[in-house]
Amino acid sequence: MAVRPHLPFVHAAMFVGFTMLVAGPVVLPASEFAAALGDAARTLIWTLWFPLVFLSVLLTGRSWCGVLCPMGAASEWMNRIGPKRPVPGWLRWEGTPIVSFLLVTILGHTVGVRDYPSAILEIFGTTLLAALVVGFFYGQGRKKRVWCRHVCPIGLLLGVFSRLGAVDLVPKRLKPDGDGYDSRGLCPTMIDLGRKTESRHCVMCARCVHPEKRGGLALRFRAPGAEVADIARHHPSPSEIWFLFLGTGVSLGGFLWLVLPEYQGLRFALVSWIIDNGYTWLGEPGPAWLVSVHPEAREVFTWLDFFLISGWMVAVMLSLTAVLAVLQAAAAWLAGRLGAAGGFRERFVALSYQLTPPAMVSLLLGLGIDLFKLVPAGAAAPVKIAALAIAVAWGAWLGRRILGRMGLAGSRAALAMVPGLAAGLSVAAAWWPAVVG
Ligand code: SF4
Ligand code: SF4
Repeated sequence: MAVRPHLPFVHAAMFVGFTMLVAGPVVLPASEFAAALGDAARTLIWTLWFPLVFLSVLLTGRSWCGVLCPMGAASEWMNRIGPKRPVPGWLRWEGTPIVSFLLVTILGHTVGVRDYPSAILEIFGTTLLAALVVGFFYGQGRKKRVWCRHVCPIGLLLGVFSRLGAVDLVPKRLKPDGDGYDSRGLCPTMIDLGRKTESRHCVMCARCVHPEKRGGLALRFRAPGAEVADIARHHPSPSEIWFLFLGTGVSLGGFLWLVLPEYQGLRFALVSWIIDNGYTWLGEPGPAWLVSVHPEAREVFTWLDFFLISGWMVAVMLSLTAVLAVLQAAAAWLAGRLGAAGGFRERFVALSYQLTPPAMVSLLLGLGIDLFKLVPAGAAAPVKIAALAIAVAWGAWLGRRILGRMGLAGSRAALAMVPGLAAGLSVAAAWWPAVVG
């Protein structure tokens, strides 16, 4: 808590550094310095920042959000000076951050956000601008982060995976009735502090922590996965489940189009079809804000590339989602037949949380490609296999615990675990091309 007064300086320094990294390589005149800044931005974002922030939620929750993120802090600064309007219903819709995640992920692939400073500026600059606008207009009370709770695509995934984390902030005196939304309270992400049981919206800003007082929240250490294992008491949400399915699928689709020869085969077949049928406009370069247009790097995507990459990613996403949803529905149905408590919908949502570890490793494999390039060539495959195996085993263990909370034990629980285990194994099998390279 001693660091809290210094956080504005940390945020200001992070904001300056972030802006320089994201905008510098594009707005500075072409020079060795600008090129080095571009390389640094790529390395820092894709090799270090993304994978490490991702893993940090297991140890420190969303501390990145509360302590270091310049975007969240800037959005909060804007809230101080804005009109503080109530959050509209379309922003509060739980699907908004899912849509935001899918759009950013797909656009990131078509513009080449991994490779080009201009694409980094487009994706991260637009996101920052949106965070500022949302922060300016919306959020009642003082210092609110409407962007972080309701829109941010990164916050969504950090929030879901923070449920697996080893730390949590819990009310010293928990009020009944479960989690609530407090638009005017102390919490920047509108958590009703006295009723907090879930960790996903908590950005670990420590504003509610006062060790000397009898009220407020206190830090609690817990076994990793404990919140998911007992998810029924921690405000489970169908929106998180759909994010686990869709996010895993879109990440897989974004990886497979880069490595599968079938994608190239499909592209060649479509090029022939376009020429034969006179749709030549599909062979024209697309606009630079929508696709990668970099003749200097010998990469110019056409309209066909745009439709093919985004269509491929959506198709893989929907296919994997269908497989996972059917298997989890089978798990919920079977558990019910074997005597598990609760309705089908509650069982479906609760049991689907067992896919949290496989989904986390999926996103790490898909979005952390550059991190694995640091691993010696011969060791990368065993590391990935180990990560997937641990994730599937952890997911199965969580499934067993969730079934236990529903009243199933022994052979009935073992039988009810089969579809959930199959879902975890399906995710691992889908990522096999990433393992073998
Ligand atoms: S939710 Fe998004 S913008 Fe907000 S602090 Fe976290 S990463 Fe930053
Ligand atoms: S619960 Fe406390 S630590 Fe978490 S975001 Fe709200 S005020 Fe900050």
